[in-house]
Amino acid sequence: MSNIDDKYARPTFRPVVGIDLGTTNSAVAFIHRGKPEIIPSPQGRRITPSVVLIDLKNRIIVGEDARAALVAMPDRTVAAVKRKMGSKERIPVGGQALLPQEISALILKELKSYVDTRLGEGEKEAVITVPAYFTDEQRRATKQAGELAGFVVERIINEPTAAALAFGLDHLEEDRHILVYDLGGGTFDVSIVEMMSGVLEVKATTGNNHLGGEDFDWKIVDWLAEKIIAEHNIDPRDDIRARALLKEEAEKIKKELSARETVTVSLPVVTVKDNRPVGLDLEFTREQLVALIDPLLQETMNHVQRVLADAGLVKDDIDEILLVGGSTRIPRVHELIRNFFGKEPRMDVNPDEAVALGAAVQAGLKSGSLSKSGLVATDVAPFSMGIAVLKEWKGITLRPGGFHAIIPRNTTIPVTRTETFYTTSDGQTAASIEIYQGEHEWTKHNHRLGEFLLEGIPPNKAGAEAVEVTYRYNLNGILEVTARCVSTGKEMSVTVQDALNRDSQEAFSESAARLEALWQNVDNEDFDDELVGEEMELFNELPDNGDEQLEVDQELASADMHEEASGLLARAQKLLPTLAGAERLKLEKAIHLLNNAMSGDDIDQLQEALDRVTDLMIDLEFKE
Ligand code: ADP
Ligand code: MG
Repeated sequence: MSNIDDKYARPTFRPVVGIDLGTTNSAVAFIHRGKPEIIPSPQGRRITPSVVLIDLKNRIIVGEDARAALVAMPDRTVAAVKRKMGSKERIPVGGQALLPQEISALILKELKSYVDTRLGEGEKEAVITVPAYFTDEQRRATKQAGELAGFVVERIINEPTAAALAFGLDHLEEDRHILVYDLGGGTFDVSIVEMMSGVLEVKATTGNNHLGGEDFDWKIVDWLAEKIIAEHNIDPRDDIRARALLKEEAEKIKKELSARETVTVSLPVVTVKDNRPVGLDLEFTREQLVALIDPLLQETMNHVQRVLADAGLVKDDIDEILLVGGSTRIPRVHELIRNFFGKEPRMDVNPDEAVALGAAVQAGLKSGSLSKSGLVATDVAPFSMGIAVLKEWKGITLRPGGFHAIIPRNTTIPVTRTETFYTTSDGQTAASIEIYQGEHEWTKHNHRLGEFLLEGIPPNKAGAEAVEVTYRYNLNGILEVTARCVSTGKEMSVTVQDALNRDSQEAFSESAARLEALWQNVDNEDFDDELVGEEMELFNELPDNGDEQLEVDQELASADMHEEASGLLARAQKLLPTLAGAERLKLEKAIHLLNNAMSGDDIDQLQEALDRVTDLMIDLEFKE
């Protein structure tokens, strides 16, 4: 075959991988010979700690080595960034101030290097998982992280769905209800998945994205700290290094107690007091651990009951209980599940790998490498999505700010729902479509996704003009809202992505540039690997040469906040003349504070003033 033939014969194949971007650990998998398979690191590690280190040479280090540096270099490492996904908070690390999705991108880039080693260079698509409870913003941040790392992000899927997919592949012939209990390092999700002739449908999902093994570690840290306080009258948690050391030790204790009943804790130096070392020497039992974490484990069982109720099932309807997430190795978890369901949970898919393997299955379904499997996946909406309406208040008056769900929580997606609304005042020519997500009957307690105005409604009597509102929610968690004036046919639509992210392209470019600079910034000169350990120890005494960058980034954040503040001020000033008495005074005072904060350069003060005026405005506008 000639070269030219070769070139044309090569398929334009773009590999698709599945990624579990975890709070604690991440993993990547792909379909190999019809089965999902983990792609290990060059060192052979199958899961990678989601920890990033920017070392003294400005090198970016991700994974086990970064995790090992958590204690020695607290200012140069970031862990558990997933808990901040979707926020605009800049996280200081190694003299930089990075957005959560930028740090996640560094983790994903590390995984991509494993993929490139295994599958060759070139473009890769990725399916990335998120907790079922992630909001649209958090999903978007995750997608962006993948793109920043150089992946084409094919889909964002829920972790329990992925776990069920990993499980489902080997048991295609059976019809059943599976409960997926996923207790990881930072999140807890429980879902009910129905499997029927190869079709997987998530019937319900709930959980708490701030509950996991990390919390167990901190319970142990607190317990150990109390011991030291009682004995030495000094709180080791006030010392950042001692705190990190105790956290590391706590996790070790916890893991060991999954395998044995008692561990010996022996730490000669936790912190120093009056120039003397303060240490720990004690026995810690599984029973003590259970006593510390049982309230949290009981909470997970409450969620189990809730998800059953949401799915309209009782516990006897559950055929299989699938345990995923590293924390499900704790024997007490098995015990609680066993006691509740009266049967053994299964762990036949490795709990650390199930999510990545399932994401790979989803990737395989997409790429066609699993097309013969007969599997089809659907999902559910994790939140209700709806619109702001006038609502009866205390049974007397109609008030604005009521929440009306158009797509209720746990609806199977993809889904399209349409409802009709009517004008509420005479001569009304425009309708404001305010889009919210959440479960509360008043929008001010829910999460605002966006707003747009449908204009050009013919002036008519109140209630005479109808507006059809359509919500379309797809498997990527992207919402498209359309409003149509029935009498004229005029319509307007918005995808929530666009509604929220008017300047997203710009922000994305900024992030990409910042990461590019980081990757270029490595100081390679006379680098000596042997020195790393020593330099780590020295780090706290060294001047931080990244302060300048931090300042630049804070200026940017402050510019964003000033813009937000200006908008808010305009709104507040407009509202002011309509108020009287105490309300007016309150708002005047808040406006004054905000004005002051805007002319100063204290970013925290500005944030505080912003929050205060925002809260007040919500209350006042709601009362109006
Ligand atoms: P995530 O999904 O949050 O990334 P993982 O599923 O990887 O997390 O679980 C990580 C958590 O599992 C950590 O809190 C870790 O301490 C915990 N873990 C791992 N192994 C064990 C064990 N043998 N016993 C108890 N907890 C464990
Ligand atoms: Mg996980």
